Amino acid sequence: MKLGVIGSPIEHSRSPEIHYEFAAQFDLNISFEKYLVEKKECIDWVKDFFANKGSGLSVTLPLKEVVLGAADEISERALQAGAANMLHLRGNKIFADCTDGIGLVNDFKNNEIEIVNKTILVIGAGGASRGILPSLLNEDPKQVIVANRTTEKSFKLVSEIQETSGLQMKSSILMPTGLSLKGIDFNTFDIVINATSISTSKEQTLDIDKAIFNKASVALDLYYSQSDTLFMKMAKDSNVHTVLDGWGMLVHQAAASFNQWSGFNPKIKEALKSRRD
Ligand code: NAP
Repeated sequence: MKLGVIGSPIEHSRSPEIHYEFAAQFDLNISFEKYLVEKKECIDWVKDFFANKGSGLSVTLPLKEVVLGAADEISERALQAGAANMLHLRGNKIFADCTDGIGLVNDFKNNEIEIVNKTILVIGAGGASRGILPSLLNEDPKQVIVANRTTEKSFKLVSEIQETSGLQMKSSILMPTGLSLKGIDFNTFDIVINATSISTSKEQTLDIDKAIFNKASVALDLYYSQSDTLFMKMAKDSNVHTVLDGWGMLVHQAAASFNQWSGFNPKIKEALKSRRD
C-alpha cells in the first residue's frame, strides 16, 4: 500500500514511523514517504499521486485547506472544519476527511482531561484550529475563544464554523478575537491550546500575555518536539498542572486515518511510548 504525508516544511514529520509501527502490528506491507509539496502545486500533485497507485495521504501545514480542492468527496467533519488532514482513494474517487479533531479529543480522554463545561482558549486560526474546533464544540465546553494574530482570520473562521456546524444558536460559546484578547477576562481559561505554527520556527515569539495561564490547569501545544516549546515553557513557568505537546494528538489522529486506509484498528500504546525518542 502506497501512503505518505505532504506539507511544507515536511522534514520534521514523524508520521512515517507511527504508520510503520501500526502496519507492523498487522504484518501489512506499506511504503510511507514524506513529500515536500507547496500550496500552488498541491492539487495537481495529489491527483497525480492517486493516479499513480497511491492509496492514502496525511496532510499537514500549510495544505489542510487547499487540499480540499483535490477531493471528489468530503466527509461531514472535514466540511465542518473546512480542512482535511487525510486523503483516501475509494474506488476511483479521492475522499477527504479530518481526523485531527477526534485525535485531540481522544488524547484529552487518554489524559483524563475534561472538556465539558470548560472555557478553552485556542490561539491560532489556521488549518489545525479549523480541524479541532468542531470536535471541541461537540464535547460541550462552556466557551471556546479563538485568538489570532490576524484578527480578521479568527472572525472569518468562527463565522464559517458556525455556518457549517449549524451552531448559530450557540454563537456565545464560540468567540473570535485578536492576540491582545481585548475585553476578555484572562482568569477564565481552563484549557489553553497553542494552534499557531510558531513552534515550527527557530525564533519562537508569541506576542501574548502570560496571564492567559492564570487559571489554566491544562496547556497543549499542538506542535510535537524533542524538547519543550516556548509555549510549553511559558505554561510550566506559570505552574499549569498538565502541559502537553501534540504527540498524543498526532498518534490518535494517525490511528483514525490508518483505520480508514487499511481497515485495521491499530493499538496506540507503543506509538505513544516512542514520544520524543
Ligand atoms: P497554518 O494553517 O499555517 O496556520 C498557522 C497559524 O499560526 C495562523 O493562525 C497564524 O496566524 C499563526 N502564526 C504563525 N506565526 C505566528 C506568530 N509569530 N505569532 C502568532 N501567530 C502566528 O498551520 P496549521 O496547520 O494550523 O498548524 C499549526 C500547528 O499545529 C503547527 O505547529 C502544526 O505542527 C500543529 N499541528 C499538530 C497536529 C498534531 O496532530 N499534533 C495536527 C495539526 C497541526 P496568522 O493568521 O496571523 O498568519
